[in-house]
Amino acid sequence: MKGFAMKKIGEVGWIEKEKPKCGPLDALVRPLALAPCTSDIHTVYEGALGEREDLILGHEAVGEIVEVGELVKDFKVGDKVLVPAITPDWSSLEAQRGYAMHSGGMLGGWKFSNIKDGVFAEYFHVNDADANLALLPEGIDPAVGTMLSDMVPTGLHGAELAEIGFGEDVLVVGIGPVGLMAVAGSALKGAARILAVGTRPNCVKVAKEYGATDIISYKDGPIEEQVMKLTNGKGVDKVILAGGGIETFKTAVKVIKPGGIVANINYLGSGDYIEIPRLDWGVGMGHIKIVGGLMPAGRMRIERLANLVLTNRLDPSKLITHKFEGFENLDKAFDLMYKKPKDLIKPVVLIK
Ligand code: NAD
Ligand code: ZN
Repeated sequence: MKGFAMKKIGEVGWIEKEKPKCGPLDALVRPLALAPCTSDIHTVYEGALGEREDLILGHEAVGEIVEVGELVKDFKVGDKVLVPAITPDWSSLEAQRGYAMHSGGMLGGWKFSNIKDGVFAEYFHVNDADANLALLPEGIDPAVGTMLSDMVPTGLHGAELAEIGFGEDVLVVGIGPVGLMAVAGSALKGAARILAVGTRPNCVKVAKEYGATDIISYKDGPIEEQVMKLTNGKGVDKVILAGGGIETFKTAVKVIKPGGIVANINYLGSGDYIEIPRLDWGVGMGHIKIVGGLMPAGRMRIERLANLVLTNRLDPSKLITHKFEGFENLDKAFDLMYKKPKDLIKPVVLIK
């Protein structure tokens, strides 16, 4: 079968591979819609996870089941399914602790395009199908469904990690698709003011539609100065980091109030250490929590997020700015994600 792969650090291309085998608890799926992710870009061009040779990329998909293992109970051949980016082993000790995304070790639930071939293939393998897949609901089209693989669960997790409460002021750093979903998640959780950092005009427009009250451009000077000015020197209750690099932690700690939470959902592709400004961190006693997390996954989670779409509380279709038809155009969508033209939020590839 054909797949679009990371050949080595800095190089992508089409490769031929054997069709994966389906174990007793697993499913084989063929894609109906695919989306590339900024994480694939970090992995390939920054070598952020280390070397990978001929690893098929991609972890955002809606697909159709072509084979199921004999122990799979709830899915059958022909079912159309939402496929989460993270597919944990649900019997692991990490899952029992509540951190299934780290099943088998740090980030271990992130299998596609990390430790096994991803979804940018004619067929891909899903472990633990009953626990990891969800039926694609009628009323959600496959393109929008791909936003439920990673963008919605990750962005909304930013708001969960930040423990947003009613009436709080939040700063969201980065308004690519992930940050935009963090803005929407903050609004859903009852934030009052949502300050959003970003520059691409489409992203700014959509950020406002999802609930951003103030837009900050990091190109107009230090973010912390702009935040302090906008908040009359008070700062914000919570910060969600969804873009930029390791320097954003410094910014976050500088603008957060005592007792605040800095929640990172950004994939830090480079740099060895994160600096925390000692004084701003209350010389270690400011009750400022710094957390970061990979998106939670699982069938119940993805079904619940789909319900947000079905009840019109969340409209992830606004993230899709570019659509391609045909598997063979995947490389073009991937290239867009790499080059990030000004009008891009998220490209999707539709497959018949
Ligand atoms: P994106 O590139 O589309 O958006 C990044 C945003 O950051 C843009 O708004 C950009 O203007 C802003 N930005 C860039 N440089 C900045 C700076 N110096 N200071 C402040 N802001 C800056 O990316 P995306 O697709 O939205 O993804 C965001 C991040 O989330 C990526 O690192 C991606 O790999 C990661 N991610 C994490 C998970 C997870 O499970 N935690 C899942 C998917 C993606
Ligand atoms: Zn991703």
